Amino acid sequence: MILLPDFLIDRPGQPPRRGWGVRVVGDRIDAVAPNAELRQRFADDEQVDGAGCTLSPGFVNAHAHLYGLLAHGLPLDKAPSGFWPFLKDFWWPLVEDRLDHDLICAATDAILLELLRSGVTTVYDCTEAPYALPGCLSAQAEVVRRHGIRAVLSFEATERVSPANGQLGLQENANFVRSCQEQGGLLSGLICFHTTFSCSAEFIQQAHALGAELGVPVHMHCAEGIHEPEYALQQFGMRPLEYYDRLGVATPRMLASQCVQLSEREIAIMAERGVRMTHMPLSNCEVGAGIAPVPELVAAGVPVGLGSDGYVNDFYEVVRGTFLIHKAHKQDPRVMPAPLVWYLATEGGARALGLENVGRLEPGWQADLQLIDTRMPTPSEEHNLYDQLVLWRNQSHVQLVMVAGQLRVREGKVLGADEATILANAHAAARRLWALPATTSTQ
Ligand SMILES: [Zn+2]
Repeated sequence: MILLPDFLIDRPGQPPRRGWGVRVVGDRIDAVAPNAELRQRFADDEQVDGAGCTLSPGFVNAHAHLYGLLAHGLPLDKAPSGFWPFLKDFWWPLVEDRLDHDLICAATDAILLELLRSGVTTVYDCTEAPYALPGCLSAQAEVVRRHGIRAVLSFEATERVSPANGQLGLQENANFVRSCQEQGGLLSGLICFHTTFSCSAEFIQQAHALGAELGVPVHMHCAEGIHEPEYALQQFGMRPLEYYDRLGVATPRMLASQCVQLSEREIAIMAERGVRMTHMPLSNCEVGAGIAPVPELVAAGVPVGLGSDGYVNDFYEVVRGTFLIHKAHKQDPRVMPAPLVWYLATEGGARALGLENVGRLEPGWQADLQLIDTRMPTPSEEHNLYDQLVLWRNQSHVQLVMVAGQLRVREGKVLGADEATILANAHAAARRLWALPATTSTQ
């Protein structure tokens, strides 16, 4: 198949190419060339006319909680007063501790529709559901495979319920990683634990050793609000990244999500040790966490990806939030320019997750792509294309999505999905979750 857009973004962040397209063979990009040349050389190929459109790598949603969908609209007596009350009084007892396999699967099914429609071709998910062990990842994987999206799935192991529950969580990850390594395909796993305030030093080191043994990243939530730095200073006499460094786990294997409340020293540790991070601008707002020092992390050379965190799932809104929030925070409209933000949303996310040959449209790279309608009231040109995309597009403009050479979305419709049934199931799952009794077993 050849795709013939007005503009091609083959290397995100680099200038787009006017009148260039790609040829897809199997799951890969086979050729990148001017449209006229592609038409001539591959006259017998199926052609996708992308007039008025931009062809870009698909988005990499580098941090999600797919079950988070069920919390959208959940009735609350009062809004949590900060990040720690958000976890302790809301997220743990009313969402994560109530989850079972059916709820996780129903939410996954529905949220993947929206992610695919908004141009996401890879998602990294961390499920924390201590009472859904064991087997929740293999149950979820069945749903993910049906949608044909590239995904990294993990279970967020935590000792907050009990040390034995923590071990079950690590085992869940290890079993899933091994099964993906045996099967191949679009799914993979990694090792995931929660935080310094819900996991012991021994547990954190065990998780890191398991990641090294299996050759996969080790992910955690890090300094999402002021609670964790305050806890670490009180308990260990140092901040979370300093603590991880002392434990010997601040390495290129470490994928630290959130990183909202960091000191300059912690940013330097991340850069020196090759730690990767993911940024969730919108959910940081939701929980009153603060604004992550992303311009500083990027400048220090830390690999950064973007994520929805299970909150606002139209990935164009995550992109827009990343573009705007730091300008306001730094009182400087020059920070986080549109080409950089587009890079973070695509190739940057793939790099943060350690995925090879994902995030560019170059020969030999995975054919994970989105075709975006870029007909605007003002002309789209080489000089403004990234700004036009970042500021004025949303999921309704995504015409076509392909993952590993397979069409997944065409004219805004997710192919092969019974949307009405999936949404009805999600609705019923949300009603059931909201009516379950709150747990009291958490700290
Ligand atoms: Zn998260």
